[in-house]
Amino acid sequence: MPNTDSILRIALQKSGRLSEDSFRLFKECGIKFESGTGKLKTSSSNFPAEFLFLRDDDIPGYVEDGVADIGIVGENVFIESNRKAETTYRLGFSKCRLSIAVPRGVEYKGIDDFQGKSIATSYPRILSNFLKEQNVKADIHEISGSVEIAPSIGLAEGVCDIVSSGSTLLSNGLKEVEVIFRSEAILIANKKLSKAKHDTLNKLLFRIKAVQTAQNYKYILLNAPNDKLEDIINMIPGMKSPTIVPLAMEGWSSIHSVLEENQFWENIEAIRSAGAEGILVIPIEKMIY
Ligand code: ATP
Ligand code: MG
Repeated sequence: MPNTDSILRIALQKSGRLSEDSFRLFKECGIKFESGTGKLKTSSSNFPAEFLFLRDDDIPGYVEDGVADIGIVGENVFIESNRKAETTYRLGFSKCRLSIAVPRGVEYKGIDDFQGKSIATSYPRILSNFLKEQNVKADIHEISGSVEIAPSIGLAEGVCDIVSSGSTLLSNGLKEVEVIFRSEAILIANKKLSKAKHDTLNKLLFRIKAVQTAQNYKYILLNAPNDKLEDIINMIPGMKSPTIVPLAMEGWSSIHSVLEENQFWENIEAIRSAGAEGILVIPIEKMIY
């Protein structure tokens, strides 16, 4: 049994656009817990963690107040909440942007078009900061949902809302004219975590980094004639240096290495023309430097 002082209370979105990737992240980190059972709270069976399943809007406040020690939330929601917490890690999923849109038929020349006009949004704080920076005085109509309908019912000249593909805007006859904020899922932590909880958080971050690094890298195996080994090794240097294993066939070897996926695609032609054959590329589950 872990010392109860070190148990980290983790707030996750119960169900929505953050949930699936958040749950997957813990699974990839080898942290087991039951989800989807309708329970609002559960413990991990193999890591000092307790999970709370909440509406995403409530997560920043719970982390600020210490009801939860850490949480995963969209940066848009965190900034809009104006709650105080540490932004501990950027997770790279649930990417979206907060944009201003206007009816498709409107000719848009620039943000100054909004002087004296009104914009409907669920993000009044982020929008008002943006308008201030741009020296634009516009009315902000705060509404909690279905923002896209505002122009067609005469509530506002424009809207400011979350966009990922833009299809919702399109089907409501709107076009995106300004991106005001780019968001992704972030891990936030209470500002006054105890030493014991901090240690648990560091263990968690260590695992998250190992999983995320691994996702960018591939394990590569290939065969090459011995007189070409040097050229090929220079192209795939690996973590320390590649492994060379002799093949049963005289004069040939197998090279094993680790390569960033982008680097692999950039170098594949050069590797082939240097004489590599039988190239295999294999996903890596965890990677620790
Ligand atoms: P809740 O019921 O928990 O309050 P919600 O309806 O407010 O959920 P979701 O739609 O699940 O929120 O979105 C959660 C977060 O996911 C958003 O705050 C944003 O950061 C991100 N997000 C929103 N839309 C998308 C999208 N289309 N693609 C990827 N990420 C998105
Ligand atoms: Mg919400």
